[in-house]
Amino acid sequence: MSPTIFAANWKMHLGPAAGRDLVRAVLSRVRPAEGRTLLFFPPAVSLPVVASEVAGRKDAAAGIQNLYFEPKGAFTGEVSASLAAEAGATWALVGHSERRHRFGETAADTGKKVRAALTANLGAMLCVGELLEERQGGRTEAVVLRQLAAGLEGLDAATVARVVVAYEPVWAIGTGVNATPADAAAVHRVIRAWLRDHTPAGSRARILYGGSVNAKNAAELLAEPELDGVLVGGASLDADGWVTICQAR
Ligand code: PEP
Repeated sequence: MSPTIFAANWKMHLGPAAGRDLVRAVLSRVRPAEGRTLLFFPPAVSLPVVASEVAGRKDAAAGIQNLYFEPKGAFTGEVSASLAAEAGATWALVGHSERRHRFGETAADTGKKVRAALTANLGAMLCVGELLEERQGGRTEAVVLRQLAAGLEGLDAATVARVVVAYEPVWAIGTGVNATPADAAAVHRVIRAWLRDHTPAGSRARILYGGSVNAKNAAELLAEPELDGVLVGGASLDADGWVTICQAR
């Protein structure tokens, strides 16, 4: 069984000094364990510091929260996959709901970003998830599979195996309302089945759940074997809470 992934998305919080302090505090309390991988997604400016803090730990890595798919050029304000790698990233988050819904990132953009990340040898974590009205309208499966297909378009089976999928229902992100373990597992099974049908490596795909995971509900969510880990925003900003979550399975 692959290690459980605990991924912290700091969003637009924690500059280099505060980021370094948090990673130090967490790593001093969460000892390396074979069954656990710790991923930190700090703001881009904090990436070099976080990368250097995790450098001595095989169980931990740093990633960029977003990237631009072009390799270089006149794209003011953007960061390419290779620049992120140079700054210490070994992972990239792609298609987070805030990128899709607040910054207008399209499904086609996510596909280009996944390919750019993998080309630069970064692991790609592709986020998918439905809006509340899509769930209420019975369209969860269709939305998630459309996002998945667009995000993975053009990848061969071996390459798809390097992508981790994060199922993050938009109505659960930052709202304090998490999906139940059973609801999350049901969508994970749909994603897994699609991956199995479309890629030979699919049955081994790692699928995380994200959306209002916290120190109180993490153990219950992670008791569901369909969850290969969690992607956490707000609750990853506090050392005590994050340490508890990272020990919840
Ligand atoms: C996220 O940002 O990916 C997320 C799941 O946020 P939160 O844990 O705050 O809901």
